[in-house]
Amino acid sequence: MGLMHAEQPASADRLNPLGLTSPAFLAAAAERGVREGRAMELYRAFFRDGRAGADWIAPPAPVIGGEQREDATTKFTLRIDEQLETESVILPYAGRTGRARNTLCLSSQIGCAMGCTFCETAQMGLMRNLSVEQIVGQWHAARFTFGTPINNIVYMGMGEPMDNLDAVLGAIRVLADHNGPGIASSKIAVSTVGRAEGIRQLRRLAEEPGFRRVQLAVSINAPNDEIRSRIMPINRATNMAELREAMLEWPARNTRRILIEYVVIPGVNDALEHADELAAYLQPLLCTVNVIPYNPRRNSPWPAPRDEAVRAFMDRLIGHGLFVTRRRTMGRSLMGACGQLGNEKIRRRRLVPIAIPASETAGDP
Ligand code: SF4
Repeated sequence: MGLMHAEQPASADRLNPLGLTSPAFLAAAAERGVREGRAMELYRAFFRDGRAGADWIAPPAPVIGGEQREDATTKFTLRIDEQLETESVILPYAGRTGRARNTLCLSSQIGCAMGCTFCETAQMGLMRNLSVEQIVGQWHAARFTFGTPINNIVYMGMGEPMDNLDAVLGAIRVLADHNGPGIASSKIAVSTVGRAEGIRQLRRLAEEPGFRRVQLAVSINAPNDEIRSRIMPINRATNMAELREAMLEWPARNTRRILIEYVVIPGVNDALEHADELAAYLQPLLCTVNVIPYNPRRNSPWPAPRDEAVRAFMDRLIGHGLFVTRRRTMGRSLMGACGQLGNEKIRRRRLVPIAIPASETAGDP
C-alpha cells in the first residue's frame, strides 16, 4: 500500500524534492508504492507551484530569516537552525532584448574557510556546509517567497563551492532538471577561489550530456604569486601556474569562456603594470575578465577604487586583446556584492580578525 493511503508520515519519512532530481524522486516514490506518472506529476507541480501535493512529500521548508531590498537587489537569509542563516542575493538585469532577467547568487556554505583578506565572509570563518536541499532551497525562496523568476544561477555567495562540491554538484543536477527548476546548464556558473582539483571534478560534470555548458568562474584577483599569496591564502597551496594548468584542462569554447574575476583593490593590484602581467598570465586561456571594483568590507584597510582607475585598468587589458566586462556594484550598502555576504548577526557571534600585512595597506585613504 502506498503512503498516499497511510496516515500522515513523520517528517523524516517524507521525500524532499529540493534535494532530489526527478529520476531519484521517482525511484524513491516507487519504493513507497507511488505510480511513476503520479510521482512525476507531483514533482513537476512542486517546482511549478512551490507546494507539496501529497502528505508523503516534505512541504518546502525554507524559512526567511531576514530580507533587505535596495538598488533593485534583494538580499535574503534562510534560517538553517536557531543559530545559522544562509545568505542569497537576487540581482535583476536587462537581457539582450531588454527583457527583465534575474540572477540568483547562491551560498554553498555558511561562512568560508578561505580567508581572502578583502572578503567580508572570510571574517566569519567556516561555520558549516550546506546540503543540496539547503542550496536548492535558496532558489525555492527566491522563486516562490519573493515571486522572482530566476534566469541565472551563480555560486558567488558565501563559501567556496569546491569545498562542498558533492552538494554543489547535486544542487546543479536538481536546478538543471527540466522537470524541476529547469535552469539551462549554460545559465549556471560555479565560482572558485582556485581549487585545482575542484575544477577538474567540475570538468567531469561538464563532460556529461546536459551539463556541457556549465560555466566556470575563477577568482584570480592578482597579477602574480607574490600579491595573490598575500590577499588569498589558497595561493600558498596552489600557485598561479598550477591553477592555470587546471584552467587549461577546462573545455572552454567561444560560447563557454572561463570567467576570470578580478577585484580591483587600490594600491594592491590596480597598477597598469599589473594589468600587463595579468594579460600575460591569461594569454593561453580562452577567457573573459570580469573586473569588480573593490567593495570595502567592514574595517577595510582599503577604500573603493576610483572610477578612472578601474577604467584605465580595463582599457589596458582590452589593449592586450582580452575580453573585459565590469561588474556593477549594486547592493553595496546591503553588503550583497561580491564577497560581502557575511551575515551581521552571525558575524557578531563569531568574528575572526583578518591579518593584513603592513605592506598591503599602502592604498589606505
Ligand atoms: S572571496 Fe570567496 S573564497 Fe575568498 S573568503 Fe570570501 S567567500 Fe571565501
